[in-house]
Amino acid sequence: MFDGERRREADERRWAAERRHWLRLSRTVKAPADRRQRLERASLSAASVQAARNLYTTSADREVRAARRAKQWSVIATVRREQAAALFKDAGSPVPPPDDLLALHREAASAALRAIATVARQAELVGGTCCAACRADDGKTYRIADELRVPRLPHAGCPRGLCGCDWFVATETPRRRRRTAPSEAIAESATASTLPGGGDAPAVLAVDGVPGAIDAADVFAGPIDDPADPGPVAT
Ligand SMILES: [Zn+2]
Ligand SMILES: [Zn+2]
Repeated sequence: MFDGERRREADERRWAAERRHWLRLSRTVKAPADRRQRLERASLSAASVQAARNLYTTSADREVRAARRAKQWSVIATVRREQAAALFKDAGSPVPPPDDLLALHREAASAALRAIATVARQAELVGGTCCAACRADDGKTYRIADELRVPRLPHAGCPRGLCGCDWFVATETPRRRRRTAPSEAIAESATASTLPGGGDAPAVLAVDGVPGAIDAADVFAGPIDDPADPGPVAT
């Protein structure tokens, strides 16, 4: 086989994989099905990979604009975090990341904070174990208003570039902490599955006694294991 043919085959395999990748992401941000299918059927080329990538980013932007109008903060957090990660990887994971990717990641972090702000004034940082900066903040609680002014994520100097640290609901009164499903903790039930960290998120903690926040004891009253309560007795 000639070198040229071999190169062409290698290119086509790479283009096919890359185009599939962008089209799969496009689907997560509700790109129109007809446009996705048209690109799936187009002949393989660098241009068709680029078109699939554009379809993804324009659809992500549209999804974020709609979510912003509806105040669906956790949707914005999920879309922007995934977009920042995908474009970062596509750029060859440069450290430090370029400004536009930092901006996307920060938009995700502030949207996660705004989602938490619907039930609390503070948020807990769940940090990665990748470096000293990320480990140092792990488990610490910060005022959301301060974080929105001066965002600390992604941690500067983290060797991962866009670090894996994220925000979760915290509590000011550890004595009364109890575990609550994320879907009950955030008042955006329709989008709860898109909370930062997705379904594998650490247990979100109910917020008690936070001035201005929804009274967690009322909102999150669910079945609690109480050894003193024998529960309903069968008759
Ligand atoms: Zn970090
Ligand atoms: Zn780190």
